Amino acid sequence: MIEITNLEKEYKTGKQTMKAVKSVNLTIHEGEILGIVGESGSGKSTLGKMIIGLEAPTSGTITYNGKPLWQKNKYLRPRPGEIQTVFQDPQSSLDPRMRVKDIIMEPLLGLPSSDRKEKGDLNKLVELMKRVGLKEEHLDRFPHEFSGGQRQRIAIARALITDPSFIVLDEPTSALDVSVQAQVLNLLKELQRERQLTYLFISHNMEVIRYMCKRVAVMYKGELVEVGETQDVFENPQHPYTEKLLSSVLSVPTEEIAGGVPVAKGYF
Ligand code: ADP
Ligand code: MG
Repeated sequence: MIEITNLEKEYKTGKQTMKAVKSVNLTIHEGEILGIVGESGSGKSTLGKMIIGLEAPTSGTITYNGKPLWQKNKYLRPRPGEIQTVFQDPQSSLDPRMRVKDIIMEPLLGLPSSDRKEKGDLNKLVELMKRVGLKEEHLDRFPHEFSGGQRQRIAIARALITDPSFIVLDEPTSALDVSVQAQVLNLLKELQRERQLTYLFISHNMEVIRYMCKRVAVMYKGELVEVGETQDVFENPQHPYTEKLLSSVLSVPTEEIAGGVPVAKGYF
């Protein structure tokens, strides 16, 4: 579905240039949850931003279903709403002056009017609210009236309203409390299956990656140092950096918490 070839991103600050992403090659298959893991500053978000059109690549290509996403500095959006995102911090990604209803419907503004009518139908909206664990009466409220977990459910509804095929989730649960994280991860997993979505799932947390992703790519200082089936990467890491990431995780006992999710204590 997505083919990334020799992708690079340089940021210039004053006279200095730094490469946030270095010659990345990566394939994202339709219907999979592909994880990107790496410590803070390794270039994960920059990679995600180039796919969704927020940062233009310095060089290299990204194709989506065979068509390039970038032509020089111009983002060639596929069908409007086909690619959506959920960010880490629902506090800053939800406009505090907007009602939930308008926040969720906002992505429809970019769609043709027939689509807008169909996807913005009130019954469908209420159904979507319920599916993400919210209530109809929440539609007229403002973001500050909700908990962190609920705000992230609002962000998920906003991503789903356009019927996307592909979603970039950038640390979607990193700001949430332990038990709430597990619930939101389960919701994301169920939605992916139900709607046959493809996810690029970005996280610095190996346990979350293990729980969510069948395949994982490890980023280190802008480079992809390892890509493989999550189980293989966990059992037999090929790169010293992956080993280092894992060493902090594997010693932690797993336990069952909300929803029967096996998680490592202290890692959610
Ligand atoms: P991650 O998401 O893995 O934490 P980022 O992709 O956000 O990493 O950042 C990768 C590197 O690029 C970091 O060193 C960061 O400081 C730098 N960077 C990110 N965005 C910008 C920007 N807009 N201008 C300059 N440097 C940036
Ligand atoms: Mg980031």
